[in-house]
Amino acid sequence: MKAMQLDHPGGRFRLVDLPRPAPGPGEVLVRVQACGVCRTDLHVVDGDITDGRYPIVPGHQVVGTVADANGVEALPVGTRVGIPWLGHTCGHCRFCLQGAENLCDAAEFTGYQRNGGYAEYVVADARFCFHLPSGYDDLQVAPLLCAGLIGYRALRMAGEAPALGFYGFGNAAHILTQIARWQGRRVYAFTRDGDVDGQAFARELGAAWAGGTSESAPELLDAAILFAPAGTLVPLALTHVRKGGQVICAGIHMSDIPSFPYVDLWGERVIRSVANLTRADGVELLALAPRAGVRTAVEVFSLAETPQALDALRAGRIRGAAVVRID
Ligand SMILES: [Zn+2]
Ligand SMILES: [Zn+2]
Repeated sequence: MKAMQLDHPGGRFRLVDLPRPAPGPGEVLVRVQACGVCRTDLHVVDGDITDGRYPIVPGHQVVGTVADANGVEALPVGTRVGIPWLGHTCGHCRFCLQGAENLCDAAEFTGYQRNGGYAEYVVADARFCFHLPSGYDDLQVAPLLCAGLIGYRALRMAGEAPALGFYGFGNAAHILTQIARWQGRRVYAFTRDGDVDGQAFARELGAAWAGGTSESAPELLDAAILFAPAGTLVPLALTHVRKGGQVICAGIHMSDIPSFPYVDLWGERVIRSVANLTRADGVELLALAPRAGVRTAVEVFSLAETPQALDALRAGRIRGAAVVRID
C-alpha cells in the first residue's frame, strides 16, 4: 500500500510502499478515504513532541471503511468509521478508571505511536473508532475528528462562558465558532495582526468581532481558548479575561510562556491546558455537529501532496481545514 512515512523527527515525508497491515485481535483494517491535517502533525514532523515512534505514518483524523476485522462484531466490513488521535488506552490506570482516559498513562496515539491515516490502509483498535454522522461526506467530516473534537473538549472546559475569545482562527476555531454561535455565545476571533482574510472568514462564520492579537475585543472575555501554539498569547489573553475567567490552552505544544505580573492572574483567573480526547467527547461532538448545522471548509490535497498541505498549514495559508484525499 502507498503511505506517507516520516523516518525521524525533523525529516521530510517520503511516499513509500508498505505491506498492507493485518488487524490483530480486536482490531479493524480500514481502507482510508480521507485524512484531515492537524497542527499536531507539524509538531510530530518537527519533533516538538518527543514520545513518538519512528518511522511513523502520521495522520489522525482518519475517515475510511472497514475492510477486514479480527473478532470485531460491532464494526462489520463496509462500515464507515472515523479514527481519532486517541488510538488505545490501558483501561486500568487511575485515569482510565476515573473517566479521564485522555490522560491514560499508557495511551497510544494515532499517527504518533500507531501508524495513522496518510496511507491507503490503517489498522485501528475497534473500540476507539467512531461511527460518523451521515450528513457529511468523507472530506467534510475529517476535520471534526481532531480539530472539532479536541476543540469541543476545550469549549466544554470553558463552562457557560457567554463571551468567548478564540486565538488562532484555523481548523478548530472555524468549527467551534459555529457551535458556540448555535449555543448562543458571543465569539471574538483573534488572528495574527494584519490577517484580514482570516478576520473576514471569522466574521462570515458568525464571530461578533475579529481582529489582531494586539487589539482588544469590545468586552472582557469569560474564557479565552488558545489554538495558536504561541506561548506569548497566554499572558496576553490573561489581560483579556474578566475576574474568574479562564485561559484554556488547547494545543499539544506551545512555545515557552513569558513571565507576567501576578496581578494579571489575580482575581481567580485560571490558566489550564486541554489534553487529547475521551471517546465520550467524540460521541458527543459527532452527534452535536449535525444538529448545530456545522459545515467545514476544506482544502483538498492528494496523498503525494501531504507535505505541501503541511507547508500550507504552517504558513497559515489554509482557510478552514486541509484534508488529504486517498484515492
Ligand atoms: Zn490507562
Ligand atoms: Zn490533531
